[in-house]
Amino acid sequence: MDHFHYQDGALWCEGVPMTRIAAEVGTPVYVYSAAAFRQRAREFRDGLSTVPDTHLAYAIKANPNLAVLRVLADEGYGADVVSGGEMARALAAGMPADGIVFSGVGKTEAELVRGLEAGIGQFNLELEEEGVVLARLAAERGLTATAVLRVNPDVDAGTHAKISTGRKENKFGVPIDQAPAIFARLAGLPGLSLEGVAIHIGSQLMDLAPLEAAYARVKRLVDELRAAGHRIARVDLGGGVGVAYKAGDVPPTLADYGAMVARATRGWDVKLMFEPGRAIAGNAGVLLTEVIWVKPGVVHPYVIVDAAMNDLARPALYDAWHDFAAVTPDGERMMANIAGPVCETGDTFAMAREVDRVAKGDLAVFRTAGAYGATMASTYNSRALVPEVLVDGDRYAVVADRIAAETILAAERVPEWL
Ligand SMILES: *Cc1c(COP(=O)(O)O)cnc(C)c1O
Repeated sequence: MDHFHYQDGALWCEGVPMTRIAAEVGTPVYVYSAAAFRQRAREFRDGLSTVPDTHLAYAIKANPNLAVLRVLADEGYGADVVSGGEMARALAAGMPADGIVFSGVGKTEAELVRGLEAGIGQFNLELEEEGVVLARLAAERGLTATAVLRVNPDVDAGTHAKISTGRKENKFGVPIDQAPAIFARLAGLPGLSLEGVAIHIGSQLMDLAPLEAAYARVKRLVDELRAAGHRIARVDLGGGVGVAYKAGDVPPTLADYGAMVARATRGWDVKLMFEPGRAIAGNAGVLLTEVIWVKPGVVHPYVIVDAAMNDLARPALYDAWHDFAAVTPDGERMMANIAGPVCETGDTFAMAREVDRVAKGDLAVFRTAGAYGATMASTYNSRALVPEVLVDGDRYAVVADRIAAETILAAERVPEWL
């Protein structure tokens, strides 16, 4: 959180005061620190410095803003994409096609074709039939698709159920015990170069043990595949490393993660792919908001802010915690509930929380909103689509416009027969 700091009694992002952004861009608005993105990108890479052959594919879904992607492309990152739209973003940001990994449990044939024609570096297959179809689509075009098979290692990542992906009942990957047979059937297909396996067991992991357990299962599978005569050249270890959302959260450091990976993968003799999302983006952004009212409540007052669940969905979706801090705190604290204007009880960011004292018209931020924030925003309640700002040193730019409710209304029409 160092790139968001108090100076002369007010919160700044790098060299730009939040008050200036609020005055010039309005609220609510996401504010990102380019330095924070760069720092985490480098820490992730440095953590893996003793691992021989790696490729870093930033999971775009965490924060797909084009300017953010450009910052990470300049850090040498490729991308993990889960839709044709994300693929288009990665390419538009200047990421080389062969550094892009195409994940996703529901890639359509049209998306596979776009990926093939763009020269995507790796397709992560989620089921056997996808491999058959991809092989055919590639062969028809005289191409060979490089692919890995995503396996479900059946480990409990110990995270929120809605972001847990590596248990056998989850929709992702093929059961690890069926992987050798599926691999054998896909390996010889013309148009397909099946080079290894992939896992991703969940997000916001606060403990390395489930990852290490999953890696051990992958190693046993790799040994079995090699014993069966397959050439295994790559293993994709996915993403999932968590970040601190509140005091007392102790996520793995990227140095500890890297050390664990180095230990767990020693001697694997493969290219290792990584797909970090939240670990790079989480603490690189805040959501800047203005207090509309402080409404008396039965137990505690409701601080009604101009950001809502349509701008930041995580609390409504996962009961997630985001620290709430005043931009110009007066040193006093208050007990309050924090809520947005949307007509849903779920549009509540905090209940019975001690926070900086705020009053009508004050600015505040929700911290740790750089990942799974703006990317999940909607226009529910016919609210504007929230804009994004990127700060870099003492300058900033609006890197995504606020899309007004009127603009969205203009894309709708009443048929003439009504
Ligand atoms: C979401 C996702 C990631 C990124 O997860 P983080 O927890 O943000 O690191 C990586 N790989 C795949 C396949 C994903 O679905």
